[in-house]
Amino acid sequence: MSDYKIGTKCVQGGYSAGNGKPRQIPIIQSTTFRYETGEAMGKLFDLEASGYFYSRLQNPTCDTVAAKICELEGGSAAMLTSSGQAASFFSVFNIASCGDHVVSSASIYGGTYNLFAVTMARMGVEFTFVSPDCSESELDAAFRPNTKAVFGETIANPALTVLDIEKFASAAHRHGVPLIVDNTFATPVNCRPFEWGADIVTHSTTKYMDGHGSAVGGCIVDSGRFDWTRYPDKFPGLCTPDYSYHGVTYTERFGLEGAFITKATAQLMRDFGSIQSPQNAFLLGLGLESLHVRMKRHCENGLAVAEFLSGRDDVNWVNYPSLPSSPYYTLTQKYLPEGSCGVVSFGVKGGRQAAQKFMSGLKIAAIETHVADARSCCLHPASTTHRQMSDAELDAAGVPGDLVRFSCGLEDDADLIDDIAQALDGVK
Ligand SMILES: *Cc1c(COP(=O)(O)O)cnc(C)c1O
Repeated sequence: MSDYKIGTKCVQGGYSAGNGKPRQIPIIQSTTFRYETGEAMGKLFDLEASGYFYSRLQNPTCDTVAAKICELEGGSAAMLTSSGQAASFFSVFNIASCGDHVVSSASIYGGTYNLFAVTMARMGVEFTFVSPDCSESELDAAFRPNTKAVFGETIANPALTVLDIEKFASAAHRHGVPLIVDNTFATPVNCRPFEWGADIVTHSTTKYMDGHGSAVGGCIVDSGRFDWTRYPDKFPGLCTPDYSYHGVTYTERFGLEGAFITKATAQLMRDFGSIQSPQNAFLLGLGLESLHVRMKRHCENGLAVAEFLSGRDDVNWVNYPSLPSSPYYTLTQKYLPEGSCGVVSFGVKGGRQAAQKFMSGLKIAAIETHVADARSCCLHPASTTHRQMSDAELDAAGVPGDLVRFSCGLEDDADLIDDIAQALDGVK
């Protein structure tokens, strides 16, 4: 598979049917798996043999779909999680615990910000948030001796800032820690962060990957390239025996390719149980088969809508990474030359109230706490997803009060533009 282009991997990756076997991925709707001897099962518990025993840890349907995403990202191992939130949490908590510190871009999804700044802070993991546009020396200054990871989003939701992945990866590596990139908005069709030095990739598969608004889910992919064993004191969880797992040392037993995901499965899935259901994994697998076709259309619609909005004098500003007027256009051309995403943000003249009136006038796009769906939708973050943030925090995250986030679906662009035009006219 690794020689094939991304579209072929979307369709064929992760699963090949044996002779006389189902062509589509079977849904293994079983919590448990039968063994003939206790010894055989004991070997699984000791991680001496690989196999399934309980779906809270691993399930064949989920693993098949994770394998497809792993191929798409060009990683070495991957796991599905119940949600994008679980993926973000596991990706950090797998290597940072109480007393540790993480550097994160301030321009991230509101739910992730809350997870990091509030919930994980309560667990004793401290975060320093930096502007994605900070200089190398500002970035260096954010690190501490107990820093364990750097986190950012390829295209931030909803600010649509583009991460300079190489800048963040080289800073992370200078300080001996991995770069974790949430690649939800770009998807591996438009950007593969491992090709630019990222070490771990996370996804909310709820968005473009499923693509049809049908299943909440997440995924973590490891590049297998970060050498934990160079920093055994920083990453004792990966480099010293795990007594909750019969003394296994993950890097020794599973190599750099398998250590991170095996530890996350054996410890975090075992203890937190944030599994994706096999049924949801199946729906995700279906979505992935057309991801490359859909992303192209989402991006075409995104650009058409962004260009239309740029010509309206009742729109204050338009933010879309693939517009030449975007401050991120240069980074977009470098990291996202094929297209960015279908999400456009803009400010309606007249501020908060005008934005709300505009949204209620739309006929095709629905008001939803969702993005990256086949059906167009829109949201006013300051009054919904980001309402827990202060004005200063909103500005720091690049989400001003008048921002409308418009997620272009797969409809015809002419209809989307007509709908937006009539809703804007209705504001006056
Ligand atoms: C939605 C989203 C998440 C959270 O994912 P859920 O599946 O809703 O838990 C994380 N990161 C980004 C960029 C997102 O858009």
